[in-house]
Amino acid sequence: MKKTVLITGASRGIGRAAAEVFAKEGYDVAVNYNSSAKAAEDLCRELEKYSVKALPFQADIADKKAVEKMAAKIEAAMGAVSVLLTNAGIAEQALFTDITEEMWDRMFAVNVKGAYNCTQAVLPKMIQEKYGRIINISSMWGIAGASCEVHYSAAKSALIGFTKALAKEVGLSGITVNCVAPGVIETDMNGHLSPEIIAELKEETPLNRIGTTSDVAETVLFLASEKASFITGQTISVDGGFIL
Ligand code: NAD
Repeated sequence: MKKTVLITGASRGIGRAAAEVFAKEGYDVAVNYNSSAKAAEDLCRELEKYSVKALPFQADIADKKAVEKMAAKIEAAMGAVSVLLTNAGIAEQALFTDITEEMWDRMFAVNVKGAYNCTQAVLPKMIQEKYGRIINISSMWGIAGASCEVHYSAAKSALIGFTKALAKEVGLSGITVNCVAPGVIETDMNGHLSPEIIAELKEETPLNRIGTTSDVAETVLFLASEKASFITGQTISVDGGFIL
């Protein structure tokens, strides 16, 4: 069976690395992006070297109607989505007392409602096919909580609850739902951190290094594979032992 993966926020970072490992494994890849059309198109062109179909699809995942339209376009162009990777996310640092209602709502709209929107758009077909893999990207801060990131931590924690509950609901339909909780990974999201802070974070990590996008992408690929067919509702940490 030809498999199609939809990866949200795939134009860079962890999403891009995931697109590469899935394509290498023979999956067709639906590359979702919000504003980086050129990066998404360039990535799709690159993925063609693996002889798979890779197409860019624009949608702000916080917008339910836009996600529904995107899902319909993906199905028409590539067939049913068998693997959903809800990777797109935003992070922000602020004292709790400085988090405005607007900041709070946007954090949840992208990180939590985005997962709801995308899952609702592809789940009916997965249920019909009696097969599916849903993988949500949470964060180690969703497990442990981060100072000055209460809205981010709360949103990433919500994804863990979402994962457990949905796993219980759709298991009988042959669908697994899991979470990956990355630690500090070298991407644009951490671009604002100074070399000193990065060095401190590295030192605090038992495996004494910062994670790579490939560390996360390979874990996601495993969770999507047949090898992980008895794993559901779990949150797998990919953090070098940071949170123990
Ligand atoms: P990144 O900022 O490089 O990539 C995030 C991607 O999501 C970008 O392409 C961005 O355009 C896209 N995106 C943001 N809002 C969107 C929206 N509304 N609709 C569609 N796309 C949208 O960051 P990353 O490090 O690759 O992060 C990927 C995921 O991993 C995020 O969910 C993030 O919270 C999580 N994470 C990252 C780290 C880390 O250290 N980098 C750690 C833990 C968790």
